[in-house]
Amino acid sequence: MQPFEIKQYPFYNNLKVEKKTKQQLLDQRYLKMAEIWAQNSYCKRRQVGALIVKDKMIISDGYNGTPAGFENICEDEENKTKSYVLHAEANAITKVAKSNNSSDGATLYVTSSPCIECSKLIIQAGIKRVVFTENYRLEDGINLLKRAKIEIVQVNTSLGGYKDE
Ligand SMILES: [Zn+2]
Repeated sequence: MQPFEIKQYPFYNNLKVEKKTKQQLLDQRYLKMAEIWAQNSYCKRRQVGALIVKDKMIISDGYNGTPAGFENICEDEENKTKSYVLHAEANAITKVAKSNNSSDGATLYVTSSPCIECSKLIIQAGIKRVVFTENYRLEDGINLLKRAKIEIVQVNTSLGGYKDE
């Protein structure tokens, strides 16, 4: 029995490690896609991108911008962001609402940590996991997600680092 046991142990270990690394790789790649998607934003002050992934399928995407039909200018004369600009997460979530998909149980990838308004939408949309890169200046959005028991993962795509919360 001895050789069998020796073989079995590292094999099991490798499997576990491989499984974790695969999710980390997926997280980093989806986030990189969200970063590229952010480039679609015509907002000058900040460009944020978001993807909603469910069962390894991208079911929605979004970037910050004005509502459909409005001029593609996010800033007013004083270079302040207009009040009716939608955040990337809000655009991605409302795009699901318009589709035949459901965000229930999905993962949201967003280049910047969600604000309090978007966090409310994330909770109500049934999103169970939020993966983001950059820390937004306010923490109240993240704190609300934590209270709702949503899994939060911060990934640093530039350094390849991984911070699990
Ligand atoms: Zn927001």
